[in-house]
Amino acid sequence: MRDPGNLIDIDGSFGEGGGQILRTSLALSLATGQAFRIRNIRAARRKPGLLRQHLTAVNAAAEIGQARVEGASLASRELIFKPARVATGSYRFDIGTAGSTTLVLQAILPALVVASGPSALTFEGGTHNPQAPPFDFLQKTFLPVLNRMGPTITATLDRPGFYPAGGGRFMVTIKPARRLSPIQLLERGEIQNCCATAIVAGLPRHIAERELRIVHERLSWPEDALRVMELPRGPGNVLMLEIQSEQITEIFTGFGERGVRAETVAQSTVAAAQTYLDAGVPIGKFLADQLLVPLALAGGGSFKTLPLSRHAETNIEVVKKLVDVDVRVALESEHVCTLEILRTR
Ligand code: ATP
Repeated sequence: MRDPGNLIDIDGSFGEGGGQILRTSLALSLATGQAFRIRNIRAARRKPGLLRQHLTAVNAAAEIGQARVEGASLASRELIFKPARVATGSYRFDIGTAGSTTLVLQAILPALVVASGPSALTFEGGTHNPQAPPFDFLQKTFLPVLNRMGPTITATLDRPGFYPAGGGRFMVTIKPARRLSPIQLLERGEIQNCCATAIVAGLPRHIAERELRIVHERLSWPEDALRVMELPRGPGNVLMLEIQSEQITEIFTGFGERGVRAETVAQSTVAAAQTYLDAGVPIGKFLADQLLVPLALAGGGSFKTLPLSRHAETNIEVVKKLVDVDVRVALESEHVCTLEILRTR
């Protein structure tokens, strides 16, 4: 038997060596009550240690889990986290910069969806950040899958926040399930609808139009499935490709960057969507690494996805350290892999 009071040692430099190791550890620790110590936090990153976004996640998890924490300061490379009881209720988390709010949610949501009462969360900061789930992905891709496992979670965007200005806000309400049910996602089913949205916030409309032209040319999506959204506050540019099929909605996102042509942003986003479409799998690259935590808490489940990213491989090892599950990965072809989670005791 595991002793939740025993510190599980996590090496933050392992595998991909980024902030995901910390977030997954926090999420599982909070949900299971298992204490942990992490060393070498984000050792493989240019600026290692806790950045504002990670520190917000640690503090949020500590508040919700009434945890005893050592090492929770900016740039800290070591942390001890000992959670007590999960306190549900209303919370507001403000990152104070354009740091990703959806990544803070990643650290606390799993515990709240199996907690004893409802919660209402408000997040302020970045909502559409590079290298993080954009709000739309959270709302239309991740949460619907999680809801199929038992809880009822809704997310509402009040206003978007882009890097570097931030200032976005969204709300999440959670009606928990007593426990998460395993889920099988092995088929995508028929594709029912495809649409693209190009957002320009405080930037010229032609950026969005050029991105959508590439989508139209390369994916042959009709004009009426392409939408420009102009917003006042920015600057920000995001291209989102939404593929709704019978079993799942996947979203592929490209982020405009100063010095990168709109066409280039659109081409790489289209390429990611095309890889997913060609493989015929239900679960895309990012959803695959994000489903590991809820499936581990459910103690079972399986899905078909693209060959795993290093990120997902790293996440599997962290999950196995904190929860008694085994993860079997079978590469079925060059483009398809099946992942299965099984309880080990
Ligand atoms: P850092 O060390 O700076 O914190 P990290 O290694 O933790 O970075 P990433 O590897 O970039 O962070 O990924 C963070 C999370 O965001 C992962 O769960 C990943 O699935 C998710 N993610 C990244 N990009 C997207 C995207 N375009 N759509 C959906 N989810 C995404």
